[in-house]
Amino acid sequence: MGKKKNYGFDTKALHSGHNPKENFGSPLPSIHQTLAYCFESPEQAARIFAGEEEGFVYSRINNPTVDAFEKRMAALEGGEAALATSSGMAAIFLTAVHLAQNGGNIVASDKLYGGTYNLFNVRLPSFGVAVKFVNDYQNLAAFEKAIDEKTKFIFIETPANPALNVLDIGMVSEIAKKEGIPLVVDATLATPALQKTIDLGADIVIHSASKFICGNGSSLGGVIVGKKKLIDEMRQGLYRDTGPALNPFNAWLFLLGLETLSIRMERHSKNTLIAALLLQNHPKVLKVNYPFLPNGSDYVTAKKQMSGGGALLSFEIAGALKSGKKFIKSLKLASHLANLGDSRTLAIHPASTTHGQVPKEERLKIGITDGLVRMSVGLENIEDILDDILQALEKI
Ligand SMILES: *Cc1c(COP(=O)(O)O)cnc(C)c1O
Repeated sequence: MGKKKNYGFDTKALHSGHNPKENFGSPLPSIHQTLAYCFESPEQAARIFAGEEEGFVYSRINNPTVDAFEKRMAALEGGEAALATSSGMAAIFLTAVHLAQNGGNIVASDKLYGGTYNLFNVRLPSFGVAVKFVNDYQNLAAFEKAIDEKTKFIFIETPANPALNVLDIGMVSEIAKKEGIPLVVDATLATPALQKTIDLGADIVIHSASKFICGNGSSLGGVIVGKKKLIDEMRQGLYRDTGPALNPFNAWLFLLGLETLSIRMERHSKNTLIAALLLQNHPKVLKVNYPFLPNGSDYVTAKKQMSGGGALLSFEIAGALKSGKKFIKSLKLASHLANLGDSRTLAIHPASTTHGQVPKEERLKIGITDGLVRMSVGLENIEDILDDILQALEKI
C-alpha cells in the first residue's frame, strides 16, 4: 500500500499491515511457522528485550503473520494497535484481568455472550474480581449508580448475543469519560464493517475472530484493539506471562477472512432483514429480535451506530421449549450448531445450550426465554433460507 493517507475500509482490508516489497513480492502475508527470531547482534538482542527497538523475539509475544493481522485489525477499527489472542474468551479474560488487577471491580451490562456472562458471574469473582451487572441497559443512571471508586472499566457487548439488544455506545462512553475509566466493547456481532466502535466512543474493542472475521467456522481466535501504550503493557505483561497467543496459521486465515468482510456483512445484513420480516409476519412467531426491525425497541440506536443489522436474529416461537426444539429439529438446510458468523446459515436453542450454564431465573432476566431460537443467517440464496424457515415452522 502506497503513501495515500485516507484509504477506504475495503482497501485497508486488502492491504493494511503487509508490504509485498518486504516479503519477496508476495501480495499475501506469509505464514511464519516459527517460534523464535535470529538477532543481528547481542547488542540488538538487548535493545529488543529492553523495548528500545521493535523486533520479533518469540511467538508467545509476537510473530510476523500475527503482527500483520494485528496491524490490519487496528487499521480497520481506527485504533492505534491490536493484540491477537487464541480465542475471543482469551481476549476478554486478558483485558478484564489486566484492567481490574490489584483490587478493582468491573461494571458490565448483563446482556452478554454466555461464556462472557459465566466468566464475569462465576470465574472472575472466584479470583476476587467483583463484577456488577447492569440490567437496564437503556438507562444511563443504572450504569452511573453501579460505578464506585474501585471500578476500573465498563464492559458492554453490542449488539448482544442472543437477544440482539443494541446498547448506545456514545451514551455509555460519556459516563466512562466522566468517571475517567475506559469503555470496553465486545463488537463481535457488528464487526468493524458495520460499526465504527472507537469513533462511537469505545476505548477498547474486542472481537471473537472465530465468527465473522474468520467467516467460515474453521478457526478460533480473538483480538483486542486500543491505545498502543495499553496494548504494549498487555503484550509485555499478562499476554507474555500467561500464553494466550494466536497461532500464525489462524492469523493467516483471519487475514483472508478480512479481505471479504465488508461484502459478506452487507449480504448477511440484507438476507437477515428479509428473514426477520418474514418471521415477524408469521402467525406462529411471537416476537423477533433484530437490530434493524423498525418496531424494535433499540431500532433508533441501531440505525444511529450501525450501517447494517448483521447476521444474527432471534425469535420466540409460540409453544416455548417444545416448539423451539421441534423447529430446530425440522430445519433441513441450516446447520444446528453452537457457532455464529459462518457463511452458512446456523441455528441453535440458547436456553438449553449456549446459556445452559446460566440459572433459569438469571437467564429469564437477561431475556433468554425457553422458546427463543437463535439464527445466524448465511450467504445462501435467500429463497432457500426462507423456504427452510417456513417448512420448519409448518412442522410445529
Ligand atoms: C463467540 C463469542 C465470544 C467468544 O469467542 P471465542 O472465540 O469462541 O472464544 C465472545 N463474544 C461474543 C459476542 C461471541 O459471539
